[in-house]
Parts: sequence; structure tokens; C-alpha cells
Amino acid sequence: MEILKIDHLGIAVNSIDEGRNFWSEILGLKFEGAETVAEQKVNTAFFPVGESEVELLESTAPDGPVAKFIEKKGTGFQHVAFRVADIDAALAELKEKNIQLIDQTPRLGAGGARIAFLHPKATGGILVELCERS
Ligand code: ZN
Repeated sequence: MEILKIDHLGIAVNSIDEGRNFWSEILGLKFEGAETVAEQKVNTAFFPVGESEVELLESTAPDGPVAKFIEKKGTGFQHVAFRVADIDAALAELKEKNIQLIDQTPRLGAGGARIAFLHPKATGGILVELCERS
């Protein structure tokens, strides 16, 4: 598979309003607005850092994946997202190699990206996202 770069780092926060204080006010990263991904029960906020971005994730429901993550592990680093040239080809290759996936097929993520998550059991404990942007 062709991995182009680290697209973004996902960081779970209790509140984007509180979280952005550090990233934006202290570190001086530009806040580019929040977006809701209803299917994932999450609000996201992106802060560009050079070629990559920091993504803050705030759950919109107690049973959402980010709320469950925080319940288990606390706030903080949640996932790394790699930009791939062709997400369909990447998933096919991973299936071929019997890598456990959370998403068998790509779904729509923030910013209109096509995304899919790999299971942390298959990656040594890290939640890995693949992301294709046109
Ligand atoms: Zn992400």
C-alpha cells in the first residue's frame, strides 16, 4: 500500500472548547472550525500543523466510541491517521494479510475523507486510521 504521510493525530477530549485552549491559545495552532460526524457521535476540530493536523474529538453521546475510549483510557492520544493513495486497495491488502479491521469498507469521515479503522489488536495497541482525500 502507498502511505503518503501522517494525515492527523486524533486526541480525545472532554470538551473541544476546553481542549482548544491549549492547542490554539498556548501552542498557537490555527483553529479551523468544528464539524459533527453524526454517525460516529463525535464533534471534531482540526488544527493544521505543517503537512499534518491535530484532530480533537469530543463525544456527543455517552455510548459513542470516543466516550467509551475516555471511559476506558482517559483523555489523550486516541488514534493516528495515515493518508493513503487508494483506501480500497489498502483494505484489500490488509484483508489479504488477515489484519483485523474495524471497518471492512471505507466510510465517510470529517472533511469528506474516506476513512477506515484497523483494530488495535492487530497493531500492537494503537488505533490506526487510514484516510483517503480527493
Ligand atoms: Zn481521525
